[in-house]
Amino acid sequence: MGEMAHQTYPSATLYVVATPIGNVTDISLRALHVLSLVNAVACEDTRNTATLMGRFGLHKPLIAAHQHNEREAAQMLISRLQAGERIALVSDAGTPAVSDPGARIVDAVRAAGLRVLPLPGASAAVTALSASGLVNDQFYFVGFLPAKAKQRENFLGTLRSVTATMVFYEAPHRILDCASALAAAFGPTRQVVFARELTKMFEEIHRCPLSEAEAWIKADGHREKGEFVVLLEGAVPADDENDAEADRILQILLAELPLKQAAGLAAQITGRKKNALYDRALVLKG
Ligand code: SAM
Repeated sequence: MGEMAHQTYPSATLYVVATPIGNVTDISLRALHVLSLVNAVACEDTRNTATLMGRFGLHKPLIAAHQHNEREAAQMLISRLQAGERIALVSDAGTPAVSDPGARIVDAVRAAGLRVLPLPGASAAVTALSASGLVNDQFYFVGFLPAKAKQRENFLGTLRSVTATMVFYEAPHRILDCASALAAAFGPTRQVVFARELTKMFEEIHRCPLSEAEAWIKADGHREKGEFVVLLEGAVPADDENDAEADRILQILLAELPLKQAAGLAAQITGRKKNALYDRALVLKG
């Protein structure tokens, strides 16, 4: 903690502070220091933040700043910052403004010419990626999928040719629907990782092909509870040289056969991977 005494914490600044996603001891020393010196903490839910701060013996004025009042809260925070205050912005868990309130406040504070200083910490997406074993230098953060089946299906259709690992957040009561929608949209062979209850007592990180995803969730009644990050393997990158020929063969087969069979035959004819051809066939079928 002594190190921090030599660091400067400017006034008239909004501190965007990441908080733990489950394990309370994941809070950083710097986060605790900043929470102890700010004039007030703007938070998604004052009860949650009061509980978190109380565990570290911290008691500060709390300002409600949630998705229903973000614009008004931003104006009030700007006035206080202009008066020289230091204010922390936190969400219920993880990094504010990432599938959480905060982005509008940060935007307004920056537009007012005031300083925004981020304090890094837990984010469920990055935590899940780090333990997934999915080898890919790129990831595509999707966040929450549309709740309605048709919208979700249409949206997933737009992701079929994404080659980066895709990162979804999902509510527990929708996890089964999510698994079946992913299997329908991307086919049975893509790898999926369910990162459940990260940093908590019943943490599970399970990887399987999409064909086995629903069965894994159903195998334990507890799995439809808890919090989930879902990671989906990206499409196999296109190999430019043989693309046109593979597409031509696939188009012919798709006109006559179901998608799975067409992909399998195209794999035998071209010597290319069935997964890649399956993905491509999904794109060609629109
Ligand atoms: N801002 C947060 C972050 O940086 O991770 C995310 C907040 S978002 C409202 C909540 C979603 O994050 C949950 O529905 C779940 O998908 C994911 N999540 C949060 N905590 C998690 C945990 N401990 N394990 C797995 N997923 C988690």
